[in-house]
Amino acid sequence: MPRRHPKPPSSRRGRGAPPRPDPHRIAEQDARRRANCAAKARYDSEAEAASIALMHHPGRGPRPKAYLCDVCGGWHLTRG
Ligand SMILES: [Zn+2]
Repeated sequence: MPRRHPKPPSSRRGRGAPPRPDPHRIAEQDARRRANCAAKARYDSEAEAASIALMHHPGRGPRPKAYLCDVCGGWHLTRG
């Protein structure tokens, strides 16, 4: 028995359009990323950022995590 499921005829695709990224929201996120980038120290590598995090937050507890910044291409540390 063939396992074909005939597609139902797509009736009118006007409504229910695919979600489109909101340019305003993207701009807002972009501005936030840039502000974050400007305010934070930049590291050349994940290892460097991680060692700085370890230095400032020795012992147990939450420690900032290194993340790659897509604004400057460097590494920053998260808060916490
Ligand atoms: Zn950055």
